[in-house]
Amino acid sequence: MSIAEQLHAVRQRIAQAAAQHGRAPDTIELLAVSKTFSADAIRDAYAAGQHAFGESYVQEAVDKISTLADLPELVCWHFIGPLQSNKTRQVAAHFDWVHAIDRLKIAERLSEQRPVGLPPLQVCVQVNISGEASKSGVEPDQVAALAHAVAALPNLRLRGLMAIPAPCDDPAQARAPFARLAALAQALRADGLDIDTLSMGMSDDLDAAIAEGATLVRVGTAIFGSRTYATPV
Ligand SMILES: *Cc1c(COP(=O)(O)O)cnc(C)c1O
Repeated sequence: MSIAEQLHAVRQRIAQAAAQHGRAPDTIELLAVSKTFSADAIRDAYAAGQHAFGESYVQEAVDKISTLADLPELVCWHFIGPLQSNKTRQVAAHFDWVHAIDRLKIAERLSEQRPVGLPPLQVCVQVNISGEASKSGVEPDQVAALAHAVAALPNLRLRGLMAIPAPCDDPAQARAPFARLAALAQALRADGLDIDTLSMGMSDDLDAAIAEGATLVRVGTAIFGSRTYATPV
């Protein structure tokens, strides 16, 4: 299948999951995760109406963003990978969103380094929702403190929470981590934070994520195919 066809199939999956759970399909944004894929693959998706793209590797992303600078506006670039301090300046300059904020220091740098004249950087706090030591993200009991601190930074706009649950073979268990993330976001709203985004769900689990209230699903493989090489971070 072409990228346009795969994109269409993913949009249908989203619409179907939305309908099944009584949600309007336009409350769920599709982020096309284009990491490791070429600028031409992104052009194909763009031509098929996809305007939001997710990238995980700073140098690769910045190269593609400049190659694609000729695209008529409306491309929205999301940085979804882990972010080291020495890369924050480039991310602050080139991206619209950052999803994986798990330390205040990174958020502070992004806010300081956001170029004058650009709108605030839209950010999500990443939560370690599956409790594995190896996964990144802040622990659930630290989310409120980090979220409030991030929300107070001048050049960032806290939009919500993001998580990457551990892979799960049992469909009966697939929704549980997404439900936990949704509950954490609800608690933050009850605590006065104005957030609207639940960034959760990927190619294999977007249906379960939508069932639990995902507002933004990050989909790579189901649109572009399997990734054949790993770029060093
Ligand atoms: C690569 C990646 C995705 C996309 O995963 P697929 O399984 O290819 O859909 C989503 N989110 C993050 C944070 C990623 O790094």
